[in-house]
Amino acid sequence: MDFDMLGLAPRLVTVLKEQGITDPTPIQTQAIPHAMNGRDVMGLAQTGSGKTAAFGLPMIHALMKAGVKPNPKTARGLILAPTRELAKQIADNLTAYTKGSHLKVALVVGGAGIVAQTKRLAGGVDLLVATPGRLIDLLDRRAVRLDETIYLVLDEADQMLDMGFIHALRRIAPLLAKDRQTMMFSATMPKLMGELANTYLTDAVRVQVNPPGQAVKKINQSVHFVAQAAKTDLLVELLDKHRDELAIVFGRTKHGCEKLYKVLEKKGFAAASIHGNKSQGQRQRALDAFKAGKTRVLVATDVAARGLDIPDVRFVYNYDLPNVAENYVHRIGRTARAGADGSAVALVAPDEMIELKDIEKAMKETIPVASGREWDILPGQKKRPNGGGGGRRGGGGNRGGGQRASGKPGGGQAKPGGRRRNGGGGNRSRGQSAA
Ligand code: AMP
Repeated sequence: MDFDMLGLAPRLVTVLKEQGITDPTPIQTQAIPHAMNGRDVMGLAQTGSGKTAAFGLPMIHALMKAGVKPNPKTARGLILAPTRELAKQIADNLTAYTKGSHLKVALVVGGAGIVAQTKRLAGGVDLLVATPGRLIDLLDRRAVRLDETIYLVLDEADQMLDMGFIHALRRIAPLLAKDRQTMMFSATMPKLMGELANTYLTDAVRVQVNPPGQAVKKINQSVHFVAQAAKTDLLVELLDKHRDELAIVFGRTKHGCEKLYKVLEKKGFAAASIHGNKSQGQRQRALDAFKAGKTRVLVATDVAARGLDIPDVRFVYNYDLPNVAENYVHRIGRTARAGADGSAVALVAPDEMIELKDIEKAMKETIPVASGREWDILPGQKKRPNGGGGGRRGGGGNRGGGQRASGKPGGGQAKPGGRRRNGGGGNRSRGQSAA
């Protein structure tokens, strides 16, 4: 199977070939024919699966064929993405795929100058990649209108649910052309996604590459049961064994990530951090340095790292477990990309046992133990308060409350108790916002 056989315009196939894209990935083989037939598509696929091309190529093909110039301040296709980095990545890919054509691709995201974005939209664009917040800003300023937008893509749609983008979507969707094609891509399929699909898709074809909730098989997963206060030492020890490999460390809160990153830097690691307290420029620079291998350890919150296509990440450390089990699947999906091997290591403190159980349930597997002994779940123990969304779901946290450390996790260096929170990244007061 090649792209010719999927029915894409020869010109487009040539451009792809020049970029080394010759064989469609499974999600492309499945989604492209339906999308080319004008069907709505619900795709279950992670970043790295080639999903940008899966939704992008059919739109580019159709827009090239139509040969209609967009009217001023309009966009023919709209791609909504949850984070600025992901939006930029999509725009970069689409720009590469439209090389040599008359098609115009624009990126509008927060944290970048709105004047330049307004100018870019003035003449009309074929494909507009946007984060919802900035798009609404531009709509309010009448810099763009969407009534001639006949393609809508919601990428990483599950992440949009997490972040409450649903409200933005409710405002944006009715502004689009009634007769349009909608495609939705998501790495996981939580219940709410079904509702979203019912609201915005019509008679959609569902395509998927990995069954929802299951990670790619090549990932070596392990868990260390370790007191909160001993996590940083253990992380340093583990990172030290593979100094030359790229590793992403996930923390729950912006402050926690920043603190942890500083500790790692002091310990001599080439580290960087990305989270919502960093400016867009800082985030992009950190990401570029990491992609180039100049920094080896990237400390990140979920929101900042979601959907990023970073090849060659060998290790994903869950310094804190995510509050939402699906995010675990996303996090560990950052490693073992493109058939490479990868390891996902979780550091689990006593009060993260409920999260761990949730994750294992969602994954339908038990994660092998690398060190320490499983903590008991105390009667009445609840999930930790969510670090995310500005305290939307607060309440019920009992960090380490009276739990006794059983065993000696982390190569015997753990301090029992798990009460102290001086572990570098363990700064989690209630309501503290993540990302
Ligand atoms: P995505 O899942 O869309 O983020 O794509 C991940 C990476 O794979 C991007 O850098 C794409 O340029 C690349 N890619 C997409 N489709 C193909 C393909 N059929 N063959 C090789 N590389 C691809």
